[in-house]
Amino acid sequence: MQDKVIQLEVAVPDRLVVDERSISVQLPLTTGYLEVLPGHAPMLAELGIGVLSFTSPDKSIKKLALDSGTVEILPDRVRVLASKAERPEDIDRERSSQALERASKLLKQTSLDIDVERAQKAIERARSRLAATG
Ligand code: ATP
Repeated sequence: MQDKVIQLEVAVPDRLVVDERSISVQLPLTTGYLEVLPGHAPMLAELGIGVLSFTSPDKSIKKLALDSGTVEILPDRVRVLASKAERPEDIDRERSSQALERASKLLKQTSLDIDVERAQKAIERARSRLAATG
């Protein structure tokens, strides 16, 4: 018989951010987004930068801005260990807009001193924070 709920645990190195029942979890993997429903086949995967969203049994949808880590998926449990997992209420949208603008400007420069990968990651983090709060 298929389990009907998933226990979602989201931890960062110093604390547990979420420990809630959920009926579906959408995860930002490095390979793209993955939708996890109860009864999913067990797997381990690498998380990228993006929005983790999950649906509670009352159908409300909650979001977190994630920054890299790993996830263990089991039929009735999803365990995320991320370097950062930010709730919308803790995100400063203005700061993210400024970070996005700063990194986008850097990428438009032709100087060889630019760390392109670092600027691209900053853009991804800013977009993820804006999407988690949008
Ligand atoms: P910024 O350039 O604005 O610092 P960043 O993406 O480089 O953005 P990070 O290195 O990912 O920032 O994070 C550094 C710390 O600042 C972390 O504790 C992170 O949670 C926090 N932080 C970054 N951006 C925001 C934001 N928009 N709102 C709230 N906290 C933020």
